[in-house]
Amino acid sequence: MNLRRVLQVVCLVIATSSTAFAHPQEGLTGDGLGAGFLHPWFGFDHLLAMIAVGLLSVQMGGRAIWILPAAFSGMMVAGGIVGMNGVPFHFVECGIALTVIALGAALAFGVKYPLITAAIFIGTFGLTHGHAHGTEMPAMAAPVFYAAGFVGATALLHLIGIAGGLGMKCNQRWVPQFRLSGVAISLAGVGLLLGVL
Ligand SMILES: [Zn+2]
Repeated sequence: MNLRRVLQVVCLVIATSSTAFAHPQEGLTGDGLGAGFLHPWFGFDHLLAMIAVGLLSVQMGGRAIWILPAAFSGMMVAGGIVGMNGVPFHFVECGIALTVIALGAALAFGVKYPLITAAIFIGTFGLTHGHAHGTEMPAMAAPVFYAAGFVGATALLHLIGIAGGLGMKCNQRWVPQFRLSGVAISLAGVGLLLGVL
């Protein structure tokens, strides 16, 4: 099995397990580190967006490979703080599905965005996801631990996306592969928006 095959299997396992257990928050105890860490893995919306950010950073190449994940994670923390304090954002659920569609579209069209523009958009997406994490925080969780958990999980998902992207780039036909993955992610985002996923 080559690296790409392994990554495909890993992604498939994660994707199937996450659809089976969407957002199981109830009953999680402890300081919140575990709950925070598990949250993105079991929310198909977060999982897809975070892997897509990793893929997109590889597709854009150069400094984007660390700037885009950093923009997403950094703004996610800011959004988390806002969400934990109960400041409402309207249409957050809808907004998250739209971030999945937009990230997929960016991959599918393979447009070369200026790095700063991409970082601003992806930072805004991170803010939306962070806000959802913050408002979904279980009441008994300690905010710092919960945040540390979801940031760790997000970083890992970005890395999975980056590894997957680098794996695809080893292949001669990487351009259509990135585009196809983008189409799949966008379609999943449409499914989330319509509430069928
Ligand atoms: Zn969530």
